[in-house]
Amino acid sequence: MDLNDPIAAIRGIGPKKAQRMNNIGINSVEDLLNHFPRGYQDRREVTPVSNLQNGIPALTCGIVSMVVKEASRYKKQQILRILVEDSLPGGEATTMEVVFFHVNYLESQFKKGESYYFYGIPKVEWGKRQMIFPEFFPANSPQASVQARTILPLYPLTYGISQAELRKWVRTALAPPCEFKEYLPNDVMQDSRLCSLDYAMHKIHFPDEKDELKAAKYRLIFDELYLLQLGLMLLAQKNKAGQPGLLMNGDAKPFMDRLPFRLTDAQDRIMHEMFSDMVSGKRMNRLIQGDVGSGKTVLAALGLYKAVISGYQGVLMAPTELLATQHGKTFKTLFQGLVRPDGKEINIALLTGGMKTADKRMLLSQLANGELDIVIGTHALIQPGVEFHRLGLVVTDEQHRFGVEQRMHLNEKGHTPHILVMTATPIPRTLAVILFGDMDISLLDEKPAGRQEIITKVSDDLHRPDVYLFVEQELKRGRQVFVVTPLIEESDTLDVKSTEEVFAQLQKEFSAFRVTCLHGGMPRKDKDAIMLDFAEGRIDLLVSTVVIEVGIDVPNATVMVVENAERFGLAQLHQLRGRVGRGEEQSYCILISEGNSAYAKQRADIMAASADGFYIAEKDLELRGPGEFFGTRQHGLPELKLADLTRHIKILEEAKVRAASTLLKDPGLSGYPILQEKAKLLFERGLNL
Ligand code: ADP
Ligand code: MG
Repeated sequence: MDLNDPIAAIRGIGPKKAQRMNNIGINSVEDLLNHFPRGYQDRREVTPVSNLQNGIPALTCGIVSMVVKEASRYKKQQILRILVEDSLPGGEATTMEVVFFHVNYLESQFKKGESYYFYGIPKVEWGKRQMIFPEFFPANSPQASVQARTILPLYPLTYGISQAELRKWVRTALAPPCEFKEYLPNDVMQDSRLCSLDYAMHKIHFPDEKDELKAAKYRLIFDELYLLQLGLMLLAQKNKAGQPGLLMNGDAKPFMDRLPFRLTDAQDRIMHEMFSDMVSGKRMNRLIQGDVGSGKTVLAALGLYKAVISGYQGVLMAPTELLATQHGKTFKTLFQGLVRPDGKEINIALLTGGMKTADKRMLLSQLANGELDIVIGTHALIQPGVEFHRLGLVVTDEQHRFGVEQRMHLNEKGHTPHILVMTATPIPRTLAVILFGDMDISLLDEKPAGRQEIITKVSDDLHRPDVYLFVEQELKRGRQVFVVTPLIEESDTLDVKSTEEVFAQLQKEFSAFRVTCLHGGMPRKDKDAIMLDFAEGRIDLLVSTVVIEVGIDVPNATVMVVENAERFGLAQLHQLRGRVGRGEEQSYCILISEGNSAYAKQRADIMAASADGFYIAEKDLELRGPGEFFGTRQHGLPELKLADLTRHIKILEEAKVRAASTLLKDPGLSGYPILQEKAKLLFERGLNL
């Protein structure tokens, strides 16, 4: 069997099962072997029945002494009870009950007087031992020699494929002559003391010892991070190595003169950084990190003005149409009366998906012939089919994943405009330097003066009437209110309120007002329509899951109520809170938490005490551990299977050093064809997310 063979080449995989595997992206034998376990069952020890401990998964062995079938009260289903006696040396004469519900076919599988293995989670109470629905197999079966006394992988499953099947297939695929060819440079292997790829790929699935698993994991995590670094460095080589940049000497004074406010010191500093990039003769490639409300939009406008006044076109991309629409409005005001070098008024247009084909065609032709100066829209703007006359600057708002992606697209189109990426996601500095190694970073670390502090209060179920009373007051004064509920997962318990539940309750409570509900599952179009209604004041109270947009600006919204606040990360709460306090009015954030744990209190205190997103993000990291930042795929990098960018910082640093030295010796990786191929593939995939 070859690693490139389709999985159907594995014995036992028919067309139907193959299709199911294909559905989750597993097509080849190699894909199957890259489907890593999410955990392991340690079955090396056999625990005597008498030593079973409540709630701790264990493999035990015993003799079946009784098989009893009971009719259940409902329908014709049965309960099968099996009495198992301790059969291990050292075990005391104890028994355990094994229970199966609703199965009519299992009875015949047990023979009295014979010995069986059972693997499951025991319940031990009042001296009684019980396992419900354990895995089992006869002690003298061939199965037992494979399945007992080993560490078994637990795979992420998909519909219609069982754990046992996956294990069997992987085992078959790994059998000789299966071999993974080493592709890492020798010195990297030695310097980082890595085990071979072949060893790692075998042991990640079926380790005999914990140490073997550790070595295998380390190697595979290293691989991912090393490749990631290689890819990023190759990209950086291309982008940073003094790519010539367009010269933009135009004077931004007319824009500044019309600005309705004074720039903050931080805005002023970053403006100078941007402008000096734009006249440096090198391509600007800058990331602006700034908390919500710190005033990034005006920086984008400044950059775009400078591009236009220098005779170029500019693009502003937002992650959603709604945000794009809002930016469109802001820009119309900011650019009012401003002219291009030829004296004509600066021409700004919004490109949306809902546009009429004729309008869109017209807009695209104006973009291609240079009549349009600035176009605002979603990332569809840089897709094939959109041609520019003299594209000079591309700004991306609120989503840095576009950073890498857009550069590739644009390079393909033969443009080398300046690049500006703006984000409100606080990324710890060490990580930012690694992830955005090819970008210059500007920190917008100051908010416009005179901004009202948002009053943050903590409440609970008991005080809900007070909260509602307060909400009603604000509604009566003509203000708008957000109520956010957590996303509910299947595994969730009943103490979480669903969006519908909250919506129904609030509709009753505030029947005199316009209350609407927004679900994550709604079509994008409907969501956008509702958000627009809210933004334009046609809705008073909006109940939603966290789908409400980052960056949306509704100055008249003064209250943010978060239900089940204990289920949100601090950084997320901070982003939510940033949706209010955008106007003149005093704004409020009310966190309703179930349960009065010290943990909830601590978190609430942090939220109430600080309005600094970066401080809150650090605290979040301390309290919850990493994983939160990169839980989503915001960073736009290829998906990592085993590596975790926050937990594996040490390996990441190690991999970075090795990747740098590899590229120093062989800048084009021509001596390592497999490596070269993999690094390329990784980014191709990552870029087509
Ligand atoms: P964000 O960084 O979250 O994108 P925005 O650019 O939307 O922030 O700015 C938030 C609000 O602050 C806007 O209403 C904007 O007009 C205002 N603003 C920006 N800069 C200043 C400033 N220097 N002085 C006063 N208000 C400002
Ligand atoms: Mg913004």
